[in-house]
Amino acid sequence: MLTTRTAVITGGSRGIGRAIATEYARQGCDIALVYHGNEEAATEVVRQAQQCGVRAQAYQCDVSDWAATQTTCQRILADFSAVDILVNNAGIVHDNLFMRMSEADIDEVLGVNLKGAMAMTRHLTPTLLKSAHGRVINISSVVGLMGNPGQANYAAAKAGLIGFTKSIAREFASRSVTCNVIAPGFIATDMTAGLPESATEKLTSLVPLKRTGAPEDVAGAAVFLASDQASYITGQVIQVDGGMRM
Ligand code: NAD
Repeated sequence: MLTTRTAVITGGSRGIGRAIATEYARQGCDIALVYHGNEEAATEVVRQAQQCGVRAQAYQCDVSDWAATQTTCQRILADFSAVDILVNNAGIVHDNLFMRMSEADIDEVLGVNLKGAMAMTRHLTPTLLKSAHGRVINISSVVGLMGNPGQANYAAAKAGLIGFTKSIAREFASRSVTCNVIAPGFIATDMTAGLPESATEKLTSLVPLKRTGAPEDVAGAAVFLASDQASYITGQVIQVDGGMRM
């Protein structure tokens, strides 16, 4: 159980972020949900979390905007007093062959996936270091470990997240704050819904377990990493990919 803890989850209004927020609430964790655009969806996740008897509140914020993340973290701390768990889940893709990739494609993908996670972590570092159960959980991707044609920007951001996590894992270890990465494989969410049938079939054929993952598969790993059972695990990359990369 995660009772008496507060978690901040970015990109929490849908997909993997929503599954993590919902499962954390079921575990008794208070939730500060950071969303980008869809207030209605965020409000619905908050409402469902509150039905589990926990405190929950939604905050609109573009995580690629440093000043906005600072203000948002200040608001979260004013409302919840302290934060124990940070899940950096917000992510976007702008796929293209590298020879056609624009500066904006690179800036935006690095801005949300990598700098966004660094910004949120930076502003919440003082409260995380004070927590007796401090956790940073960064949602990367197997693509950050394997590379993928058409995703040079995204793979670079997700690989960067791994180096970032291992560095702060070493810095925060003296305060018993653990920092880990979850690297999902092919998970059925809005991010992958737009893929053509042929691409979906090809990707699924690469998965030994022969199915796409569900957001709840990733949420299970996020619950474990946040729990006391995972207190001796830090600086690790946990793949949730049906065996896609071994
Ligand atoms: P999704 O598109 O459903 O969710 C992404 C979330 O990030 C959304 O809630 C979105 O609003 C939020 N977001 C985007 N830009 C933002 C910004 N500037 N500021 C704040 N929030 C922002 O996709 P998902 O599959 O649920 O992805 C969640 C995470 O998992 C992402 O980091 C993604 O890269 C990663 N991931 C997904 C898969 C997959 O197959 N679906 C695989 C590997 C990794």
